[in-house]
Amino acid sequence: MKIDGACHCGLISFTAEIDPRHVVVCHCTDCQVLSGSAFRVSVVAPAGSVSIQGSPRRYVKTAESGARRAQLFCPECATPLFTMAQEGGPSITIRLGCVTQRSELVPAAQIWQRSSLPWLSGLAHIPGSPEQQAKPAL
Ligand SMILES: [Zn+2]
Ligand SMILES: [Zn+2]
Repeated sequence: MKIDGACHCGLISFTAEIDPRHVVVCHCTDCQVLSGSAFRVSVVAPAGSVSIQGSPRRYVKTAESGARRAQLFCPECATPLFTMAQEGGPSITIRLGCVTQRSELVPAAQIWQRSSLPWLSGLAHIPGSPEQQAKPAL
């Protein structure tokens, strides 16, 4: 499946060819901190299929295992875009939030569930609104 996307300010954009079955939710604590959110959703693409316009900035993260992975983000608006092995490699992982077709891409698996935030399983029951609401009803 062909996908495309861009960061929030539009400085970095990309196209890629992905298998829509390769969408994964990661609940690890690094993903929580790096996304500024409860979990991170990504899709893996063969490196050769990814075409990037613009020059993302890199932050190299060392995992508990010692693996070093480059986290690529927009230098202007800080949108997280990609991750890859520090030395490059056969695949590039794309952050789902910046993919135009994200609503069509349903995760096939969840990993690191031992650090999943405890309220996630009840998310559907938390009061909500179709658009912004000034304050939660308390
Ligand atoms: Zn940007
Ligand atoms: Zn993670």
